[in-house]
Amino acid sequence: MNPVLAALPTTIFTVMSGLARELGAINLGQGFPDDPGPEDVRERAAEAVRDGDNQYPPMMGLPTLRAAIAAHYARHQDLHLDPQTEVMVTSGATEALAASLLGLIAPGDEVVLFAPLYDAYLPLVRRAGGIPRIVNLAPPHFQLDAEALARAFSDRTRLVILNNPLNPSATVFAEENLALLAEACRRHDVVAICDEVWEHIVFDGRTHCPLMALPGMRERTVKIGSAGKIFGLTGWKVGFVMAAPPLLKAVASAHQFLTFTTPPCLQTAVAYGLGKEDGYFSDMRTRFARSRDRLSAGLAARGFTVLPSAGTYFLNVDIAPLGWDDDVAFCQNLVRRHGVAAIPVSAFYDADPVRTIVRLCFAKQDSVLDAALDRLGDAARGAA
Ligand code: PMP
Ligand code: GLN
Repeated sequence: MNPVLAALPTTIFTVMSGLARELGAINLGQGFPDDPGPEDVRERAAEAVRDGDNQYPPMMGLPTLRAAIAAHYARHQDLHLDPQTEVMVTSGATEALAASLLGLIAPGDEVVLFAPLYDAYLPLVRRAGGIPRIVNLAPPHFQLDAEALARAFSDRTRLVILNNPLNPSATVFAEENLALLAEACRRHDVVAICDEVWEHIVFDGRTHCPLMALPGMRERTVKIGSAGKIFGLTGWKVGFVMAAPPLLKAVASAHQFLTFTTPPCLQTAVAYGLGKEDGYFSDMRTRFARSRDRLSAGLAARGFTVLPSAGTYFLNVDIAPLGWDDDVAFCQNLVRRHGVAAIPVSAFYDADPVRTIVRLCFAKQDSVLDAALDRLGDAARGAA
């Protein structure tokens, strides 16, 4: 077995969802909404399966979807992308990340990453032969700073991976911090892979600022999106890569040997969905923000210290004030004794993890959140 992969445990999402199933626990671990998702978008997919063309779609993605992606980002983020040469469809953001890293890393290249980091990044960087240089961001704000960037970037740096909004910390990077990163990329001639799958799920009047829009970044950013997140249909695994033609060509050369293409019925439905009116996206944000506030207020009332959540489906709690110093032990106790699955944030680090933060997914019906809160209250009190 490849040694990079042999050294790794099963992902924390699989472990916690498995325990939730086995124990009948409420699953606030792996991030997915518990509603069926937009009916019109699902209806389009069903129609496309029934009446559409189900043979191999083009390797770069259906032309209708690539045009819809370009139109979507022009409307929502004022980005102007050529659907022919700057947009590609992948089988989820995960494949977009894999293709980007396999396509752009040459063995020995240094890659800057920020922890907490989404679990797929490190294995993919290492599998592609990259040398990770990881900067741990400090809780509770997890922002980039000039000093950390100066430590991480060097003349050997070829790539940086940023996730904004950041899963698991639910951080949205401030524009001035993105400017620091853009400046480091320009100074060291580095390409940025920006995983923006949570771009539509930002709260409290925030708007998403794509790294690609910063000065000097248009030609050196690979932007990644996910229809699974945009429509709350996480099993669909339809992703997008947007980049200037020379970068996209490199990513496409890896994509052609990974999955080659993505189910056409889902591409057709996503093309339709991306054109939905602005109200759909703002209602989604309002709904998730309400759920965040419900869980957050309930946790605070039960003695938890809740960290700020500016975006994503997640909020985090600091378990140190409850007397815990081990997030894995806390999550094992929570799922086994109290029936709630959560994610220990230490799983998102390579070295020197923060060990007292636990991630909870609030993209659930009120009744599910309320039932989870009762159980979390017992856990906070240390009840049996
Ligand atoms: N990147 C981040 C930061 C994510 O949170 C996720 C999924 N939660 C992905 C990538 C993967 O997206 P997809 O399901 O489209 O592969
Ligand atoms: N991205 C999802 C999360 O953070 C999980 C995806 C997965 O299970 N690999 O919960």
